Amino acid sequence: EKQELLLLKNKQTITLDGIHVEVAANIGTPKDVESVLENGGEGVGLYRTEFLYMERDSLPTEEEQFQAYKQVLEQMDDKPVVVRTLDIGGDKQLPYLNLPEEMNPFLGFRAIRLCLEEQTIFRTQLRALLRASNFGNLKIMFPMIATLEEFREAKQLLLEEKEKLQQEGTLVSDHIEVGIMVEIPSTAVLADQFAKEVDFFSVGTNDLIQYTMAADRMNESVAYLYQPYHPAILRLVKMVIDAAHANGKWAGMCGEMAGDSIAIPLLIGLGLDEFSMSAPSMLKARNQINQLTQMEMKQLADKALSMQTSEQVKQYVKETLGV
Ligand code: PEP
Ligand code: MG
Repeated sequence: EKQELLLLKNKQTITLDGIHVEVAANIGTPKDVESVLENGGEGVGLYRTEFLYMERDSLPTEEEQFQAYKQVLEQMDDKPVVVRTLDIGGDKQLPYLNLPEEMNPFLGFRAIRLCLEEQTIFRTQLRALLRASNFGNLKIMFPMIATLEEFREAKQLLLEEKEKLQQEGTLVSDHIEVGIMVEIPSTAVLADQFAKEVDFFSVGTNDLIQYTMAADRMNESVAYLYQPYHPAILRLVKMVIDAAHANGKWAGMCGEMAGDSIAIPLLIGLGLDEFSMSAPSMLKARNQINQLTQMEMKQLADKALSMQTSEQVKQYVKETLGV
């Protein structure tokens, strides 16, 4: 089976009725790019930059970051690379920042919240990204956006750093898309408003599910509430995709759900444009998508959206498609 999948390595991902979607990879370090290319990735849908900051005892410099981003962009050639700005906090801590302990780290001072407060850290990363933008097809993505103001503020800082660099005579690409992760229900609900200002969405279901169901993603006792196929989750995902498309933008997904064989038919039906997952999952996902018909999956998704429970949706997809 592995051999058969490898035949798809240089093929497109396209439904039987001709809808092209992108199958991309989640990476954590420049070393991961090798596996993305080996597995036929059409892009990087999520570069988790936290790892640059972890397992060391001080912040990475602008130059260190620039080298890492440049390496990934160059290796990916002209394929899209979505780099997520620092998403620290929650399950990912940086001891050297000496942040106070919190009762609810997942609801606390993390990701974009921290970056907008600790602006030196954020601006350094933005400069490194802007400098690297000349070396490939860079897209910048902000994590854990809960309000429009957060997005506007983050984008403003990006524009400020861009202007500074240009005044210093540094070349910066004029074609960098700037988007957000949709991980917080408030942002999914107001996706129509966000869609007027962002260039793209990427749904982070790992967090979106935990915040929608109010179930800590690390807590085994409430793991039963972690339900990717729950109609409430599907409806939120639909809102995001519809809002993107109504505004001429694209919508991807970079949570675990994007590589799940039960979820994939539903997501094709909802119109998702980009699926980002672990590199070893990509060819299997491409193989599955290449055998689906989008028009049929739309009906499948419509029916799922009207169901009451995750279990019903799961059984329905299994029975209908034999997955
Ligand atoms: C997510 O929340 O779905 C996501 C991709 O981000 P992370 O898993 O890094 O929190
Ligand atoms: Mg997340």
